[in-house]
Amino acid sequence: MRAPTTDVLIVGAGPTGLTLATALAARGIQATVVDRQAVGDNTSRAAVVHARTLEVLEPIGVTDRLARLGIHAARFTIRDRDRVLVPVRFDNLPTRYPYTLMISQAVTEAALLERFTELGGQVLWRRAVTDLAQDDQGVTATLEDGEQLRARYLVGADGMHSTIRECAGIGFPGGSYGESFSLADVRLTGALPNDEVILYFSPAGLVVIAPLPGGFHRIVATVDSAPEHPDVDYLQSLLDTRGPQRERAIVKEVLWGSRFRVHHRVVDTYRAGRILLAGDAAHVHSPAGGQGMNTGIQDAMVLAGALASALTGGDEEPLNAYGVIRRPIAEQVVRLADRLTRLATVGRRLRPLRNTLLKLLAYVPAFRRRLAWRLSGLVYR
Ligand SMILES: Cc1cc2nc3c(=O)[nH]c(=O)nc-3n(C[C@H](O)[C@H](O)[C@H](O)COP(=O)(O)OP(=O)(O)OC[C@H]3O[C@@H](n4cnc5c(N)ncnc54)[C@H](O)[C@@H]3O)c2cc1C
Repeated sequence: MRAPTTDVLIVGAGPTGLTLATALAARGIQATVVDRQAVGDNTSRAAVVHARTLEVLEPIGVTDRLARLGIHAARFTIRDRDRVLVPVRFDNLPTRYPYTLMISQAVTEAALLERFTELGGQVLWRRAVTDLAQDDQGVTATLEDGEQLRARYLVGADGMHSTIRECAGIGFPGGSYGESFSLADVRLTGALPNDEVILYFSPAGLVVIAPLPGGFHRIVATVDSAPEHPDVDYLQSLLDTRGPQRERAIVKEVLWGSRFRVHHRVVDTYRAGRILLAGDAAHVHSPAGGQGMNTGIQDAMVLAGALASALTGGDEEPLNAYGVIRRPIAEQVVRLADRLTRLATVGRRLRPLRNTLLKLLAYVPAFRRRLAWRLSGLVYR
């Protein structure tokens, strides 16, 4: 059997793979990273980095550069048109980052890649893994062009349609939502706050309006059938039927738009021998609450410590503990996103009841505090 050429082969240079590679490099472990796309081609989706994620990224020197580049949103509100149902404040949380950082995923990935490169790392772009084989000593990955790479451990950070998960035979039970998601970055005028994320509930579905750097806003909405390229008229009708009523938000320009189908799934196990999974390869859910990328980044930071123990101390137990710790967290995140999505899309008949219940709950400080802790991820400290 061929000797391993690298300690860790990371498949996927999205936010999860790049965080893991950087955290390993910061510990002096050089990983090989491959991605089937060209640099910067991962379509930007996440717009939110939560407080706990900024905390965990501190030791690898990424937090300050991200915090400088994004908008610090101190509030999150759930609204029914102009009525605030639930106000959530982040500015009184006990953290150095008492806000939600609004920043596009492309910028987050660029900051991680910059730090990884500073630490001497390199990503092999346009290299897709198509097959795997593992034995007692390591894992052999076969690339699209037939080249083989051998590593002591292999991490699948290759997203929802993970080839690594399939090759390892790991189940991914769960289901899919009937609706699809329409997503766009737009230039808006109107009286929308620039430091607040707003989740509007309506019988037609939810719409999130969130500020982004550069004077843009991110719009995310659940719809029956989303167009491939949402235009100004389409997005305007979404805002007019679901968003603010008293002072309309007017869509002036669409920077880019896309559509997604959303699933809710968690893998049966995070580890199969020398193969480990992290990020969307291990868990996917609705974007309500903006948790996906944050959970993947936190997986990666825990996994880096576990791999370091196995590689430098020969102790494999932390690799088992990694899944034992992270899988229940993924299940909680999937449940939170599911609850928010179902609440957001209840039919017209139940809507007054939902609004009354939420308004009552919002009077309870403990409820608002719990929601802030959960959304910010501080609950997973
Ligand atoms: C509409 C929408 C809005 C969202 N908003 C938020 C938000 O506000 N906050 C949040 O935290 N999350 C959000 N998310 C989720 C977030 O985008 C994902 O959780 C995040 O991208 C997962 O990162 P990842 O690195 O695990 O996977 P990915 O970003 O999917 O990266 C996987 C990488 O693996 C590569 N790859 C795949 N297969 C192979 C292969 N065989 N060989 C080599 N490379 C391969 C791909 O090219 C890709 O670069 C949203 C998602 C959607 C759909």
